[in-house]
Amino acid sequence: MGKLRAGVFKLSSCDGCQATLFDLPQLWDYLDFKYWLLGKRDNSLEPIDIAFVEGSVSTRGEEEFIKEIRDKSNILVTIGACATSGGIQALRNFGRPEEFTSVYPKKEFIKVLDRSTPVKEHVKVDFEIYGCPINPLILENLVKALIHNKRPEIPSYPLCMECKLRGNVCVMDAYGIPCLGPVVRAGCGALCPSVKRGCYGCFGPSKDPNVSSLVSWFRNMGLSEEEVRRLFENENAYAEEFRSLLEGELGGS
Ligand code: SF4
Ligand code: SF4
Repeated sequence: MGKLRAGVFKLSSCDGCQATLFDLPQLWDYLDFKYWLLGKRDNSLEPIDIAFVEGSVSTRGEEEFIKEIRDKSNILVTIGACATSGGIQALRNFGRPEEFTSVYPKKEFIKVLDRSTPVKEHVKVDFEIYGCPINPLILENLVKALIHNKRPEIPSYPLCMECKLRGNVCVMDAYGIPCLGPVVRAGCGALCPSVKRGCYGCFGPSKDPNVSSLVSWFRNMGLSEEEVRRLFENENAYAEEFRSLLEGELGGS
């Protein structure tokens, strides 16, 4: 069983997702890292089997870099909310330019593209791993599957399933705490509801989520439109399933 030639690449992001790879020293048994600025001293951008990309595309340079990465890689995997849905930085796509200029004294200081976008808006993506940060075990399973020529299984079902499997009491039913669990994908082990907190969506939308139905639930619980909107204005706000809600039913900014 040969090792896969791999690269870990960073666009606009906090490094948190690639840092989770340090929790998996066993990855070195499967992967021969050719490029990973955070992880090793000598790096070269050469043809590889698999690229892990963290971060959203926010600058002209990143627009070019992601195309170069795609050209060099057989398989491209986005890791984390930024690469997969645009991340926190994509909140600016919803258009509040005055907030920009309240932070930076001059607009000319801001050298970014008009929007911060997920990698899939620029190049073909083979697999997506959501999370802020990712669960490194999901990445390990993906690598093992690819090594054995199997199709990787990445959870896309709702967090509520993981929550019930842990035997948690539902925080919405029992305590009236708003929770995005019904529309967010599993993968974290239902961390927040396990400590009596609502999920705020860092693992992104689940497959075919019924977002409108959950919004009705929140309204019936007495939440204002602004409170509902704030729940979805998270690091995955620019994922299609949440974006259409924020730009549609829950109105503009
Ligand atoms: S607490 Fe949240 S994740 Fe758990 S069952 Fe209730 S709604 Fe679903
Ligand atoms: S419960 Fe929700 S917010 Fe908490 S870690 Fe899991 S996906 Fe993220």
